[in-house]
Amino acid sequence: MSSSAGSPLQNEEPPSHAAPPKPRAKRQHDEDDEVNFAQPKRAKHHLGADYPTALPQPLVVHRVICSHHPDHPPEAFFADTPRLFTGDSKATALHGHQMITEDIFGEQFADDNRHISFLVLKSYDCKAYHDLVQDDFSVIPIPLNIAKTLSKFKSHFSVLSEDGMAPELESEKIVFVSRELQTAMEIIRATHPAHFPSEEMAMSLDAPYLCIYHARLIMNELFKPSRSNLTEVQQLHVRCLIEYIQYTRHDEFDEADTEFANGVVSERHFSKLFGPDDIVVRDTSTGPIAYAIEDATFDGRGFRVTCWTWDFDGIFFKSTNTLRVEWPSHKDQVRVSSLALYPLKYDKSGVADVLRKRGIKFWEFRKAALVEYESENSAFELKAVRFDLKKKIVPIADELPKTSNRYMIDLKTYGQMHPDSIQAHSRDHEGLEKEENPPDDPFLLMLPNTIRGYGFHDKKWSEYFSCFLPMANF
Ligand SMILES: [Zn+2]
Repeated sequence: MSSSAGSPLQNEEPPSHAAPPKPRAKRQHDEDDEVNFAQPKRAKHHLGADYPTALPQPLVVHRVICSHHPDHPPEAFFADTPRLFTGDSKATALHGHQMITEDIFGEQFADDNRHISFLVLKSYDCKAYHDLVQDDFSVIPIPLNIAKTLSKFKSHFSVLSEDGMAPELESEKIVFVSRELQTAMEIIRATHPAHFPSEEMAMSLDAPYLCIYHARLIMNELFKPSRSNLTEVQQLHVRCLIEYIQYTRHDEFDEADTEFANGVVSERHFSKLFGPDDIVVRDTSTGPIAYAIEDATFDGRGFRVTCWTWDFDGIFFKSTNTLRVEWPSHKDQVRVSSLALYPLKYDKSGVADVLRKRGIKFWEFRKAALVEYESENSAFELKAVRFDLKKKIVPIADELPKTSNRYMIDLKTYGQMHPDSIQAHSRDHEGLEKEENPPDDPFLLMLPNTIRGYGFHDKKWSEYFSCFLPMANF
């Protein structure tokens, strides 16, 4: 098809580059960064002689699927929103007025329409729509003898006397048309693999575009001249994509941001809670443990989170875990920190401070040390704490007997005495324990909550909180 004026493929939804969207209350980037699509700042010759006259824009395509009615096409595409109209019968397929017959997924379409950056594919189900409007049909009165003869065409005599309601959207996805956009997304995926992990994302994105929700700030960096590794043309296509998603989803994204900033999450926005590279926390009976997310996959009911945390057996190493967190089905909204796993950045109860103080203590004892508990002259000023299930931290030093117990913290000696207890792991970070200062955040937050020590009073190796409250003997 041609991109000339008069094409039936008009974009019916904002933002069109000919009619830019109204400014939103909250922008994700500076106004100076904006492309004014009506009056582009960049002259065409800067973009190359072969750049299409029209600037990149999305094309909304409505797809009707029918697997229920044998006389209907299984799939059809329209440029306008489909529905049933006045005079349509129960035998009529859900349809629009402007059917698209071109192969919109083919290379020829991309070549002929280089200003079209991507398709927004909105899908509807014909059977679901007929169920929705089934009570709106009126039966055309016909003589009984004719009705009997035409009984197998009965559905043709139930017609609408006015246009039916708009259909409910079954699904939505964005399909990249422009090769410039495809190439740009491949580059972005290669530079930000945690945010764009799937191979399929080179060609499409599924609503509600969770990866864009989490990558919004990163993607705005792409438009800063000194930071971008995209060409100007590629930037325009990517910008078109981000603008479209942020424009059509900004109410939803803002609502989620507001909830999370207040430390709560609703079921509607649960799928947005875990993002790539987030630090997440799991509460345990021995205190909170922090992990870095490698991958968080939402399957409709919950997240499967692959993550890692620091462990230590004389050298520091990364320990990987797979954790599951599901929505508590009986609630509409919960505190983020009440979930089995939650992003540390949304906690309001001070868990980060707990983790940091504990990490500082753990770092002090990465080398062999002899410590004495409950001594006025202790060089380490140890404070025993316990964690209750509500995560309140209760100093209990005063509750403990005023005896002086000595412990030896020496993981290397323990490893030499108990070689079978040492699990195989990477030695990539060997030597870190010899550094004078710990690495930057979030390192200290992610150190273990317990450390093994030898108690001279009971002559046993035991696990202790990093702050040296005896836990359990082995
Ligand atoms: Zn149908």
